[in-house]
Amino acid sequence: KRKENLEDLKKRVEEFDPVENSKITKFDELPLTQETLRGLGESGYVNLTDIQREAIPICLQGHDVLGAAKTGSGKTLSYLIPVLERLNYEKWSDMDGVGALIILPTRELAVQIYEVLLRIGKFSSLSAGLVIGGKDYKFEKERIGKVNILIGTPGRILQHLDESSTLNLDNLQTLVLDEADRILDMGFRQTIDSILNDIPPQRQTLLFSATQTKSVKDLARLSLVNPKYISTSTDQ
Ligand code: ADP
Ligand code: MG
Repeated sequence: KRKENLEDLKKRVEEFDPVENSKITKFDELPLTQETLRGLGESGYVNLTDIQREAIPICLQGHDVLGAAKTGSGKTLSYLIPVLERLNYEKWSDMDGVGALIILPTRELAVQIYEVLLRIGKFSSLSAGLVIGGKDYKFEKERIGKVNILIGTPGRILQHLDESSTLNLDNLQTLVLDEADRILDMGFRQTIDSILNDIPPQRQTLLFSATQTKSVKDLARLSLVNPKYISTSTDQ
């Protein structure tokens, strides 16, 4: 198949009409780069889940999104695919620094999401890094300056922001807060506020959660601009 020109692809994304396309069932029906489609295919991902069908096009278009869907519904790919694609649109390279920051409440979740990203991003030239407590801080500090997509826990990210001259988020395009309800339940609200104060305000923000608690809505009010709300069935 002919390799699609990036400008044509971006135009298809811009013009994507969620209503007209509500019957789409597979990843390869979405306007995605060949690299991402290959990464998804080799990882065994073929059919979209409900939250993925609804969230991916809107995230690709650059909107801020509050996505709520129950545990196990596929929220990870709902934001990882747009994170990769939007950096592809910008022809992001090593010179451009951290383009996306993904925050998870625990080390285990951060590692899990990092591993999914490595699999679906196998054919991408973008680099990814992990910053989690307990790992070698000096190693993280050296690597952090060369990474395009940074995944980590709130405390450790703030620690690097405060202490590591190597971490520069001035070019940040997309911020993801995944498991936002758990981030807040674990007492990270102030840490998140401090991180939000340190990053460019004109970024895209994607907030995902298994529940829609009052504290999640409060955080959404503070961190999202003209958000689109996507909710499939949520946890209690
Ligand atoms: P959530 O974050 O909503 O709890 P995950 O993104 O962790 O859900 O996905 C839950 C499980 O479903 C994972 O094992 C993941 O690999 C799998 N999964 C996600 N999306 C798809 C898909 N489109 N097709 C098949 N399996 C999927
Ligand atoms: Mg999840």
